[in-house]
Order: sequence, then C-alpha cells, then structure tokens
Amino acid sequence: MDRTTYDIVVVGGGAAGLRAAIAAAEADPALTIALVSKVYPMRSHTVSAEGGTAAVLRPYDNFDLHGFDTVKGSDYLADQDSVEFFVQKCPEEIIRLEHWGCPWSRDADGKVSQRAFGGMSVKRTVFAADKVGFHILHALFQTTMKFENIHRFDEWYVSEIIREGGAAAGVVAIDLRKGEMARITSKAVVLATGGCGRIYEFTTNGFIKTGDGMGLAYRAGVPLKDMEFVQFHPTALPGTGILITEAARGEGGYLINKDGERFLKRYVPEKMELGPRDILSRSIMTEIREGRAFDGPYGHYVGLDLRHLGEETIERKLPMVRELAEKYVGIDPVKELIPVRPGQHYIMGGVHTNARGETGLPGLYAVGETACVSINGANRLGSNSLSECLVFGASTGLAAAAYARKKDWPSGAAARETFAREETRVFDGLLGQERGDETVAGVRREMQQLMERQVGIYRDEAGLSAACAQLGKLRARFSKVGVADKDRVYNTELTSVLELDFMLDVAAAIAHSALARQESRGAHSRTDFPKRDDERFLKHTLAHRADGAPRIEYAPVTITKWQPAARVY
Ligand SMILES: Cc1cc2nc3c(=O)[nH]c(=O)nc-3n(C[C@H](O)[C@H](O)[C@H](O)COP(=O)(O)OP(=O)(O)OC[C@H]3O[C@@H](n4cnc5c(N)ncnc54)[C@H](O)[C@@H]3O)c2cc1C
Repeated sequence: MDRTTYDIVVVGGGAAGLRAAIAAAEADPALTIALVSKVYPMRSHTVSAEGGTAAVLRPYDNFDLHGFDTVKGSDYLADQDSVEFFVQKCPEEIIRLEHWGCPWSRDADGKVSQRAFGGMSVKRTVFAADKVGFHILHALFQTTMKFENIHRFDEWYVSEIIREGGAAAGVVAIDLRKGEMARITSKAVVLATGGCGRIYEFTTNGFIKTGDGMGLAYRAGVPLKDMEFVQFHPTALPGTGILITEAARGEGGYLINKDGERFLKRYVPEKMELGPRDILSRSIMTEIREGRAFDGPYGHYVGLDLRHLGEETIERKLPMVRELAEKYVGIDPVKELIPVRPGQHYIMGGVHTNARGETGLPGLYAVGETACVSINGANRLGSNSLSECLVFGASTGLAAAAYARKKDWPSGAAARETFAREETRVFDGLLGQERGDETVAGVRREMQQLMERQVGIYRDEAGLSAACAQLGKLRARFSKVGVADKDRVYNTELTSVLELDFMLDVAAAIAHSALARQESRGAHSRTDFPKRDDERFLKHTLAHRADGAPRIEYAPVTITKWQPAARVY
C-alpha cells in the first residue's frame, strides 16, 4: 500500500493530537480521520507529565486572575485575546476529561483537588497524584477508540507535507515496521508533534521530542514564532535530566543551597519556591556561579527538600517523585535532599498559528507544544501546557473539520510527485549514503552541546553569533552523515537522521531569533541587554526558512486588558 485518503490527517498521538482527533470525529461522523504517530500514542511525551493542569474551578478563583497570571508569567508577550479564550475554556475541558474517565485526585469533601503551582496566584492546578500526563493521555486514548472514523497509523513517521494548489493536501510517511513509504492524501493536516527538547544536551524531554512538526511546517513555508523562548525547568535530576515536578514545591518543598539556606529569598521573596520557572532557573545558576551550590559527579546542584512534608504526604501526593529519586539517584526524599539543577523542559515558540490552530498555509493546522498561539509568550506557567493541548486541541479539531467539509479533494498529482521525491531523498539519498567520518550521533552531540552552552539560560551577542555560524557548519556536515544500517525495516538509525535534519533547522531558528532579540524578557536572558525593551521588542519574532540563515520578521502582540508592567514577584 502506498496510498490512502482521509479527510483529515492528525500527526501526533499526544494530548493535543488525540484531543483534536476526537473534536473532529465528534463534529461530523462522516469525516474520516487518520491519526499518525511515530510511536504508539501512549508513549507520547504527554505520558510523562507529572504535576497537573490548570483551570478555574473554585469560587476563590476567576478567569481574570488566571488570565493575568498567564500574561504576567509570559512577560507580556502572550496574545491576550487568545489567553482570554484559553482561560474560559479550561474548566469545561477538565470536566470533559473527568467524564471520559480521568481519575482526578479529590479532597475529603469529594471536590476535585487543586494544588499550588509556580506563578499562579491561587491553587488552580488539577492533578491525578503526580501521574497527570499518564491519566490524561489514557482517558483521551481510550476515548478515541469509541470513534470508528478515527484510523490509527501507529509507528508511522511523517517526513513531508504534501501541498497542492497552495494548500496542504496530506503527508508522506514511512511505515516503520514495514520499512515502506506511503502517501496519505487529505484535505487538512493537523500537526501535533510536540516539542524539540532533544536539541539540548540536558533536557527533561523524551528522545522522541525532536521538533519534527516545526521542521515540517517550516519547510512548507510557514514561519516559526518566538523560537528564542526556551523554558528551563529548575528541578531536573543531574545526570539523566529526569524531571522532578513543580508539584514537589507546590506541595511545600524547599530549595536550599549548600549552606542550608532557602536562597530564593534573595530573588523572589514574595513567591519563594512558587516563583515562575525562568526566574527560579536563573536564581539557581547564580547560586552555582557564586559558589553556594553542592558539587557532585554530574556537576553543581542545589537541594530540593521535602523532608518536612512527611512520609504520608509524599506517598499520597508525590509517589512518583519518591520513586524517581530512589531509582535514579538512590536517595529517599523522606530522609534526604533531592539533587536538582535546571534543564531544558519546554519551548514557548513553535509553528505560527492563531487560536483555531490555523497557519498561513490553508489546510495546515498546528496545536500543542509544536504550535505557538501564543498564550505562553516569553515564559509558560507550569500546568498551562496540558490545558493548552486540551483547549486548543478541541478548537483546532473543530476548525479542521469545518474546513475539510467545505474543501474539495486534492487531485492526487502533487501527492504522487512528493511521494516520488521523498522516496528518492530518503531511501536513495539518506539511506544510500555510505558511512564515513560524519555520524548522526556525532553531529547531534555537537549541536546539543552548542545549544546548551551558547543558547542556554544566559545568552550574549558573541555566543549567539558563534552558535549561528557553527550551526551553519553542522548543517553542511549533516549532508555527509552516512548510515551503517541499510535495512528498511524499523531502521532507527535512519529515523534519527530524519530527526536530526529537522532539529538542525529548529536549532538555527532558535539561535537566530535569540540573536536578533536584543533585550531580556521571560526565559530569554541576554547578559548584554539585561532589561526588557518594550519600545523595540514588544513583538513576536517570526523566523522564515530561507537559503542560509533564516529570515527574521516581527508581528504585533495583541493586548486587550493588561498593559505591560514591571514583572515583579
Ligand atoms: C517530564 C515532563 C513533565 C511535564 N509535566 C507537565 C505538567 O505537569 N503540566 C503541564 O501542563 N505540562 C507538563 N509538561 C509539558 C507537557 O507535558 C507537554 O508540553 C505536552 O504534553 C505536549 O503534548 P503534545 O500533544 O503537544 O505533544 P507530545 O505528547 O509530545 O506528542 C507528540 C506526538 O507527535 C508524534 N510525532 C512527532 N513527530 C512525528 C513524526 N515525524 N511523524 C509522526 N508522528 C510524530 C509523536 O509520536 C507523539 O505521538 C511536561 C513535560 C515533560 C517533558
């Protein structure tokens, strides 16, 4: 089989992709939906989310407060019309998930529990112990099975978007188990491929987070927005990068330096451990730089102290934190400090879309971490991402369904042509290249180290310029990467080459966008431009793919009710 036809192709089986597929399937049972994922959907990165998902559910909370917290957290770069839409839609998504079987944790009175999270003014984060992503993904996955019009393509790798008549018209994908390429023609394509954390050396992200959807859209002529804003989570385990959820601090955990001091009093005295992630990560880096951190086999770290919470609370609310600490660093957080340091975690930027997931290419949609609406601006608040996947997953699925109902079928000519070109590029070109001096692991490692050192938490002109130049050289070296394994069946070396190809594009978009933004805002911290500059930079960056360096343009930020103000916690 080298051809299949569906109304809508959803690429990605994480929270965003599944929610979009359900919304489209519910909207019209006559629509056929292909759900394509390079891994079995339950292995999507969503499964590893631990802490929770935000929504206004209690009388002490309101939409304006959630909206304001999100906009302030974003350092005023979020589009406020999208934020208003988002906060209003979060509660119904949480209740819907409950009806679909998500076992939210509950208080003694039977109400859904809510915990504190960084940058949120009140307890607003809904959770299912500290295995939130697993339960959300499971509830969504089992719900997709109710719909006969959703057809799954598990372990299929999408390598290219088909375009016909200036619109998206399907995808070309490799059936990894068979080692065969196929074209899936469609009226609409929804990219829900997640983030790109693997561009960095030290990350909480799974190995599959390689920015494929960003690369696919970028190559189809859609710009990537606000890519310079990369989130570093303050508490990852040294060595592995495994995340220790913010819920550990939400439940009352402390961050302490080697002198036993709760050092955040120097940086975010009002919020302490519940400050936003960008500020906490920078505070830890300052403690490290000024010699107040612990030293261990994997470098410097600070301590996350849960001992005062007691074994009962840790077991009931943070069982996974205990398990991870025991398994991966051999300590019991009931009795000892957990070693932590900042690691890449999330990207605020992504494929330029609006609140319906629409991109500039008709028929092409993007949603979830791969998209940039933007509600996250320069810094995302913890627990807004899962809610974002649900809210915009639904709106994007509906928009794609409405579009597909009106659109005529593509002729298939472009599909045939793109398919033939991809077969030549991937099987003859990439797989055919003999293994020489350049290996996928070698080029990837250099890219990851470069991004970590020069495009990390702190940046400056010299480092960013050097990184941009070096990424250009890595791109040239990539063309010489050879593949040792010539088998087509389940060739993970070949998949890694395809992923690295996307990662190099995405890394260049991040570095060039960061170089052009001469200010510090949210997670983008320039030592040579330490202040936020609303005069020049209260605007979104748009990186367009071009020969050589990306072309950088800007777009205005939508402000409705919250005027930019100093961001003090
Ligand atoms: C450890 C960890 C903990 C987190 N905890 C929280 C939390 O508590 N609260 C919160 O709000 N956020 C949290 N986040 C962030 C949040 O989980 C993610 O942003 C969100 O789950 C992303 O969902 P997604 O559907 O966009 O993508 P993913 O869940 O990453 O799914 C991407 C999908 O795309 C598919 N795909 C990718 N490329 C291709 C391709 N080329 N061809 C075919 N398929 C492809 C994959 O197979 C996968 O199914 C956490 C993130 C991490 C890493």
